Amino acid sequence: MTVTPLIRHYLSIKEQYPDSLVLYQVGDFYELFFEDAQQAAHALGIALTARGTAFDKPIPLCGVPVHTLDHHLAKLIAAKFRVVIVEQLTAPQPGKLVERGVTRVLTPGTLVDTPFLKSTHASYCAALSVSERSYALVLVELLTGEVRVVVDARVDDRLIEAEVARYAPDEILIASAAREPLFDRLERQGYVVTRSVHDSSSATKEWLAQWPDTLRGLVERSAVLQEAVASLVAYLAHHQPTALSVCTRVQLASPESILIMDRATQENLDLAACGDLLDVTKTAMGARLLRKWLAAPLCDAAALRERHDALEQGIGRPLLREELQKVLAEIGDLERVVGRIALKRAVSDDYRTLVHALQQHTVLTATATALFGIQTECDIALDTLCTDLTQSINLERGAERLIAPGYDDELDRLRELVDSGVAHIVALEDAEQRRTTIPSLKIRYHQTYGYAIEVPKSQAILVPDRYHKLQELANRWRFTTDELRSLEYAMNSAHDAAREREKMLFEQIAERVYSERTVLRRYASQCAYYDTLQSLAHVAHRSGYVRPTFHESSDIRIAEGRHPLVSAQLRTAFVPNDTRLIDTESLLIITGPNMGGKSTYLKQVALICIFAQMGSFVPARSAQLPLIDRIFTRIGASDNIAEGKSTFYVEMEETALICRHATRKSLVILDEVGRGTSSYDGLAIAQAVVEYIHDQVHARCLFATHYHELAERVATGRGIACYHAASREMGNEIVFLHTIVPGIARGSYGIDVARKAQLPPALVERAQKLLQEERVRDVVPARVEQMSADLPHPSHPVVDLVRAIALDDITPREAHDILRRMAALLQDTR
Ligand code: ATP
Repeated sequence: MTVTPLIRHYLSIKEQYPDSLVLYQVGDFYELFFEDAQQAAHALGIALTARGTAFDKPIPLCGVPVHTLDHHLAKLIAAKFRVVIVEQLTAPQPGKLVERGVTRVLTPGTLVDTPFLKSTHASYCAALSVSERSYALVLVELLTGEVRVVVDARVDDRLIEAEVARYAPDEILIASAAREPLFDRLERQGYVVTRSVHDSSSATKEWLAQWPDTLRGLVERSAVLQEAVASLVAYLAHHQPTALSVCTRVQLASPESILIMDRATQENLDLAACGDLLDVTKTAMGARLLRKWLAAPLCDAAALRERHDALEQGIGRPLLREELQKVLAEIGDLERVVGRIALKRAVSDDYRTLVHALQQHTVLTATATALFGIQTECDIALDTLCTDLTQSINLERGAERLIAPGYDDELDRLRELVDSGVAHIVALEDAEQRRTTIPSLKIRYHQTYGYAIEVPKSQAILVPDRYHKLQELANRWRFTTDELRSLEYAMNSAHDAAREREKMLFEQIAERVYSERTVLRRYASQCAYYDTLQSLAHVAHRSGYVRPTFHESSDIRIAEGRHPLVSAQLRTAFVPNDTRLIDTESLLIITGPNMGGKSTYLKQVALICIFAQMGSFVPARSAQLPLIDRIFTRIGASDNIAEGKSTFYVEMEETALICRHATRKSLVILDEVGRGTSSYDGLAIAQAVVEYIHDQVHARCLFATHYHELAERVATGRGIACYHAASREMGNEIVFLHTIVPGIARGSYGIDVARKAQLPPALVERAQKLLQEERVRDVVPARVEQMSADLPHPSHPVVDLVRAIALDDITPREAHDILRRMAALLQDTR
């Protein structure tokens, strides 16, 4: 054999965890070998060296000091590595191999310790299984013990991707091998994808036994769900075994009960920024719940009524809200604390947070009840636990002694011995200085020798015979005495006994807390719920949001709607706009100049619907809305070079998804369909899409376009209406009014926008000239005749100008300017 026993042991562990970096403790360092060393050195920016040989080659090696482990772990986790920690389990002894074993396994989806988790985002471990006929996504949130089950028959890669994006799991276990392109794409999107092993062991049965009957029945009927569950069980059993008994709050996230938003929608509408905007929560658990609501808007009127009722109550009581905020700020991240308690992974400060949170229980319940008008009972069990823990836990953060003084007589006695031992050492030092007449004599603690008397070498001659020499250093000598030894022995025994006693008492307390985990979880959920509500109420109050109402019809009626993000960011006043998407005008074609406010308007309608269905109030004067089942958006240009897809292809794929999956209860937002190809093809596709969505899908739809011809062609009075973003020419300048009004825009004013964006003046002038020439060419009769009847009919620029005149609000000066432009245009075209 050409490897050392240490490397052999390392390799045996690596074999069990082939996908993980193995950090292997050797003395004061955690070392990594072979390929792991190369990867870690690169990720951590530390030196890569080599030591010894294995199979006749040098072994690449890097290492990190034991005391810096957490710092380096955080970096490796952020870089999405899985990490296995192997520690020394026995003290090193000459001639004996130190025993080592795996003490921790960290994978992105199974993290539970605070330094590795993002406080405002839930951490999910997901399993995905896809067949020809359906797919299953099972999500486990270790620290809340919640399991979400999604089973859907719409096996469309884009919809599956949308569902994954909704939860953004930290790790996705792939339970079936069938759909590689989808899994590859998820990986490219930055997800950690783990091709998992199945396990049909009894663990699966045991886990399922804790599920509600209805869902167990669903598992029995669905092969994909069985696969997903089995792979989760196998994975958790390997990496976080306690999780299986903890994650038992299973819920079916049925596709009908949650608003579906494709991935493009979630990104285009910038839901992440909306989350930040709405978030004035005071606890991390509130921040997480708020983002969960935003990512999964409801289609359930009763549940929404409950949230809106509470907000309505809370919005007009700013003083009570402030009081609640103060109480919440004292509570900390109780949800994750309880999560770690349930997983038996809590650290001492978790218990301190718990006590603080329990101390707020009564006042929190009373304030929330008064603020939101929700009836909640104070839980007696929490009060009793609070009293017990306040007596037993030392609340000083970071303090080494977790058990409070006065809680246990025996512990107090032992601690007294330890503390008085230190005082005795100080007294002994004083006495020895006097007895030996060596004033610089010191008693110091040394790792190898314990307490030792240190004397400068120059004074060693004064040392009495009763001193036993321990060590000679260059400039000082170390000694001990019988008295010092017995004192140290007494101290050590007291110290060990105190530690043992504290451990025993702590285990009792931990057990008591563990037994209350169910009520504690309930309390944590209540805190998160109140925090999310107060945050929504606060923002609604601050920003003048109103309560939306829902009705049975599909009409969307919004008065003075605003885009929540743009209106919050603008320095100038935001111009509110109405929206009427009703049976007789269910599809609006919106034209208008570049920068005119079309996209903003489209997105604001979608966001108002999403805010309403997450349970928030909405930025508008009033909003009467349907419960929308899906929102699809196709906005802007993006390509996917990695998959060999052009911008136009991606545009068509997204449009296809909409045509396939939108229903008459959906909202479709299309911003510029057909721009990525020639104008004739693009226009034809755009028109066909409009007609298809209107005539076949019957979805409510907003369609923004620069194809003014399209507006003219499809506005046939069959439920398609034309609106435009109004603008006005002032001298040489175009002024965007940002109001959406009926009618078709006069032009795109692309060149004016280019000028504003400070393209070189010569370039702008050239563009202007080319545009004029183009217009002239377009009106040459011979060319017009050549055009097929199906192609768009260009109008004369003078006709365009006349059409665009807003007769009722034109000033004499503007009229004169227009006449001058007409004369110039006619001059050019002569
Ligand atoms: P393009 O056709 O070039 O994509 P657009 O018509 O879609 O342009 P937007 O992107 O919606 O234009 O808006 C451009 C800018 O105008 C926004 O960034 C915002 O600053 C401002 N704006 C849009 N709507 C409003 C509004 N209602 N009130 C005030 N400012 C607005």
